[in-house]
Amino acid sequence: QLILVTGASGFVAAHVLNSLFKEGYKVRGTVRSEATANKVRKTHGHHLKGDDSRLTFAIVPDIAAPGAFDESVKGVDGVFHTASPFVMQVEDNVRDLLDPAVKGTTSILEAVEKNAPQVKRVVVTSSFAAIGDPMKGARPGYTYSEKDWNPVTYEEAKNGPGVIAYCASKTFAEQAAYDFVKEKKPNFDVATICPPMIYGPLEHGASLESLNTSSADIYRLMNGSSKEPGPTSIPCFADVRDVGEAHVKAYESKEGGRYFISTSTFSYPQVCEIIKKALPSHASKVPDCSTTEEVETFTIDNEHAQKALGIHFTSLEKTITDTVKSLAKLEQAA
Ligand code: NDP
Repeated sequence: QLILVTGASGFVAAHVLNSLFKEGYKVRGTVRSEATANKVRKTHGHHLKGDDSRLTFAIVPDIAAPGAFDESVKGVDGVFHTASPFVMQVEDNVRDLLDPAVKGTTSILEAVEKNAPQVKRVVVTSSFAAIGDPMKGARPGYTYSEKDWNPVTYEEAKNGPGVIAYCASKTFAEQAAYDFVKEKKPNFDVATICPPMIYGPLEHGASLESLNTSSADIYRLMNGSSKEPGPTSIPCFADVRDVGEAHVKAYESKEGGRYFISTSTFSYPQVCEIIKKALPSHASKVPDCSTTEEVETFTIDNEHAQKALGIHFTSLEKTITDTVKSLAKLEQAA
């Protein structure tokens, strides 16, 4: 089977590709340029085993443009839509976050409906950003699951800080996917993957100067740039390998719908302890957490993903150990 993976160059997409190749799928990745396609060929070439047809590309320079995916969906069996900006500092919330997320999602669904009638399921990478209510903060005593939706409004998203606009971009994009299926009743259904902060090994040819947002969140705790850990703003996490596997399992699963992919809650002081153990060479750069109070937070219910997809979630210790070892390798190479 051939799967179209949009945004094939990203941190998460690298592991989606790994999981697809492991299960014997072929991949057509969308990227914004030929240079990016070459980068992915380099990081994932070892999966091809002499068969170049296992990884091909379609260049889609602007995912928000009308008809952006009309050509790239032709002939594929399934679609995974991961491309979406994950940045918090932008000039224009609508142009830089909301439009690419929402129009990108509707554009790929329209393209599948028009040009790929053989596709039965589209898997969309959403986020805990579409589940949690940022206005409620740590929300002790509450348990988040697939039933929850971030209640942000478009007005708040347009004029609010970047973090609110990002969360809104994921919320509106995911809602747009379900609305599309409800209204148009196409040949396919959707499954959405909702992870919180995703950590784990970087396998997308990253460089320390341009780390993706969630890897940078850990790197600042090992490179001496943070004297204090700061509040754990999104206190739950997922391992990027679990997220990759979840995409494939959700594609193969009988049921579409939402999957909340998260191991557990966590805090930055816990991360700091793990870094000191995993990377003794960096221990002196890790922020001092001795006076940081542990804050009580919401809990999470990940049972649906465990039961329906059979995912065994990776522990915080393994996820962070593998993240920081991967980041240390990038430091050595720099
Ligand atoms: P990256 O920044 O590493 O990857 C983002 C990908 O999307 C890249 O391939 C990028 O292409 C592409 N992309 C971003 N903006 C655009 C745009 N305007 N037009 C075309 N392509 C675009 O981030 P992640 O891998 O972390 O994110 C991937 C997905 O996972 C996103 O949907 C994100 O919202 C979601 N997610 C991530 C979490 C995390 O903690 N990392 C948590 C929850 C969800 P290019 O390489 O050309 O920039």
